[in-house]
Amino acid sequence: MKRVFSSLNLAEVHHARNLLEAEGIRAFVRNEFLSGAMGEVPFDQCQPELWIAADQDSARAERVLREGLLWGRAKGSIWQCACGEIIEAQFTQCWRCGSEKSP
Ligand SMILES: [Zn+2]
Repeated sequence: MKRVFSSLNLAEVHHARNLLEAEGIRAFVRNEFLSGAMGEVPFDQCQPELWIAADQDSARAERVLREGLLWGRAKGSIWQCACGEIIEAQFTQCWRCGSEKSP
């Protein structure tokens, strides 16, 4: 299992899952019901997350998400780190590798 996407916007996480399912990639949402606990649980632990069941699908999943989310949205609302991670615009640092967002 591998986390491929996370967002504070649950609808967007579900949208991302739909994109993957449409490509035949098995995916599921975690932390779906934790957002109500925001403030009590550390921020990075209550964000809805999208996970895929099979690690070998991750490259394909990232491509699908990049095309479906990055290109489908207003420029600047989301960015992709050099390591491949897709990050919400309000974060300026990659949670996976720690890199700063490049200008
Ligand atoms: Zn990164």
